[in-house]
Amino acid sequence: MLRVKPRARVVLHDAKAADTHGWHKRGAEDALEHNKKRLEQLQYTLYAEGVESLLVVLQAMDTAGKDSTIRNVMTAFNPQGCTVHAFKVPNDAERQYDYLWRAHLRVPPRGSIAVFNRSYYEDVLVVRVEKLVGATIWKRRYRHINEFERLLTDCNTRIVKICLHISKDEQKERLEARLEDPAKHWKWDAADLEKRKQWRDYMQAYEAMLARCSTAHAPWYVVPSDRKWFRNFAVSQILVHELESLSPQLPASSVDPEHYRIF
Ligand code: ADP
Repeated sequence: MLRVKPRARVVLHDAKAADTHGWHKRGAEDALEHNKKRLEQLQYTLYAEGVESLLVVLQAMDTAGKDSTIRNVMTAFNPQGCTVHAFKVPNDAERQYDYLWRAHLRVPPRGSIAVFNRSYYEDVLVVRVEKLVGATIWKRRYRHINEFERLLTDCNTRIVKICLHISKDEQKERLEARLEDPAKHWKWDAADLEKRKQWRDYMQAYEAMLARCSTAHAPWYVVPSDRKWFRNFAVSQILVHELESLSPQLPASSVDPEHYRIF
C-alpha cells in the first residue's frame, strides 16, 4: 500500500502525512511489539543462513524521525548482525571518490543488515536543491543509482528504501518543541530553517527521486510520519514483509547429537 510503483508519479501532499490507514494507536503499538519479535527471529535466520543481506535506506526532511525510527524499530535487531551509518556532508577523503563510493563501503555483508540514516540519495536531494553541482550532473545520478542498486540486488542484497513523510505544519511543531526543551537543544541546527524555506523545492526533489528510483528490485516506500506511532508500526511492517519475502532458512544440520558426549 505504501510501496511506490515503478515510474508512478508521486505527489507528497501534506495531508497524506497524517494518514493512518485505518489504524488506531493502541492496535498499532501492539502490532509494533509483535513485529519486533518477528524481526528478531527473521534476523537470526538471515544471519545463520549467511546468504543474503538487507540494506535499509532512510530518507526524510528534518524532524521526520529517522533517528527515532532507528531507536524504536531497528532495536529489534541483534547489534551483532546490524550496522547503522549516518551519512553527513562528505569529508575531504570522501570527496576524492565518486559519490557512491562511501555508500558501497558500508553495504551489508552476507547475513547482515545495514541501515543508512540518509544515503547516496542526498546526492539527488540536498545537492540538487542547493545547486551544489550542475543539473547535467545530478540528472544522470538517477541512472547511476538504479544501476548501483541493481548490482547490489544481483549480489544478494535486498534493498528497502523508506521515505518518512511529514507535513510542513508538523515540522513546525517539532522544531518549536526542540527550541522549548533544553534537553533537545543539541539537535538544534539553524540550517534546518533554511531547508524549511525551500520546502517546495525539496518536495519536488523527493518526488523526482521516488518516481525515478522506485524499481521492482529496490522499491521506495512512503511512510506517513506525522503520527509517530503509525510511522514506527508501518516501518516495522515493511521490514517484516521484506524479510519474510527473502524467506531465510536455517542451514541444514549435519550434526548428529547421538555422536557426541559432553563431559
Ligand atoms: P541529521 O540531520 O541527519 O540528524 P546532521 O544534522 O549531521 O544529521 O545533518 C547531516 C547533513 O549532511 C544534512 O544536512 C545532509 O543534507 C547533509 N548531507 C548528507 N549527505 C550529503 C551530500 N552527499 N552532500 C551534501 N550534504 C550532504
